[in-house]
Amino acid sequence: MARYTGPNCRLCRRVDEKLMLKGERCAGPKCAVQKRSMVSGRRRGGRPKKLSDYGVRLREKQKARYTYGVLEQQFRRLFAEAQKSPGKTGESLIQLLERRLDNTVYRAGFAESRNEARQLVLHGHLTVNKRRVNIPSFLVKPGDAIAWSERSLNKEPYKSALQGIESKVIPSWLNVDKSNLSGRVLSLPLAGEVGAKFDGKLIVEHYSR
Ligand code: SF4
Repeated sequence: MARYTGPNCRLCRRVDEKLMLKGERCAGPKCAVQKRSMVSGRRRGGRPKKLSDYGVRLREKQKARYTYGVLEQQFRRLFAEAQKSPGKTGESLIQLLERRLDNTVYRAGFAESRNEARQLVLHGHLTVNKRRVNIPSFLVKPGDAIAWSERSLNKEPYKSALQGIESKVIPSWLNVDKSNLSGRVLSLPLAGEVGAKFDGKLIVEHYSR
C-alpha cells in the first residue's frame, strides 16, 4: 500500500499544528512547528493566518489523514464506511481510524509514534488472536488479543518497547500487561476519549459539499 514518505514535520507545518508524528522529539525544542511559531510570532506579531470556510474544513480533514498516516483514497473509503455505521458519521470515522492495528499498537504503548507502530506491524512483529498480522489498516474489535510474535521476543524492537512502556498512559478501551507487552481490546474506542486534534463534524461537512 502506497503511503506518504516525505518528512513528517512538513505535514505539521502544512496544517500549522503539532500532530505529534515523531514521538519524543515532538515534545522537545527541536519541533519544527514550535520553532516556526516562535520566529513568525516575532515577525508577524503572532497574527494567525485567516482561512476560508473551505480551507478550515479541508485542514481538519488533512489533520486527520496526517495523524493516522492514511492516504486520500483510503480515507474516503473509511469515510464511506463511517457513513454506513449507526450514529454520528464524524464519531464513527474517528472510531474507525482508532481501530487501525498500527494505531492500536501505538495506543498500547508498544511504539513511540504511529509511524513506528506501522513499521512494527509491517515487519510482522505483532499478532492478533495468535495470528501474525502485517496489515497496518487491519481493524481490531472488542475481544481481540494483541501480542508480539514469538520470534520477535528477543529482538531489539521488543526490548526497547519493554523499556519504554512504564511511562505510557494506556486508554481505557485497551487492557495492557506491561510486563510482557500483551494487550486486549476491551471495547470500541469512543470519539470523545481519543483526544483527536481535529473536528470530525467539519470533516463530514467537507465531504458533504
Ligand atoms: Fe510535528 Fe513532531 Fe515534527 Fe513537531 S517534531 S513538527 S510535532 S512531527
